[in-house]
Amino acid sequence: MQEKEIVCIICPVGCRVQVKATPGDDERLQVEGNECGRGKKYALEEFTNPTRVITSTVVIRGALLPRLPVKTREPVPRHLIFECLKELDRVEVESPVQVGEVIIKDVLGTGTDIVATRSMENISNHEHRREKEAANAD
Ligand code: SF4
Repeated sequence: MQEKEIVCIICPVGCRVQVKATPGDDERLQVEGNECGRGKKYALEEFTNPTRVITSTVVIRGALLPRLPVKTREPVPRHLIFECLKELDRVEVESPVQVGEVIIKDVLGTGTDIVATRSMENISNHEHRREKEAANAD
């Protein structure tokens, strides 16, 4: 019998949920220790197909900072995290970038996109704006 204890992170109670599977009979998963149905759903997903939202950064050219923060729009299968990070290592984007802009579409065929989590303007636009602001202040 395969068995795993999963701490439910859906709410602050943090129930310790046990999921048990009989080999060759994955249809019959037993779930114990959850206080509610949301915990059962979470534990079953963690047991059968754990997923995570990936947050990272990519190289950006022409911006004030050298790296742009990004994340997956939806959680992706946990076993693909390392491959996703390798994909992100290969990416270089050009500023300006708007928050929510797609950086990698359908990353690794997961059906979810990697998106920017902040806007970054082009450094020349930034300097131009600062010069204008300074001129207006005089
Ligand atoms: S099982 Fe329900 S009550 Fe327990 S931590 Fe999860 S969401 Fe909260």
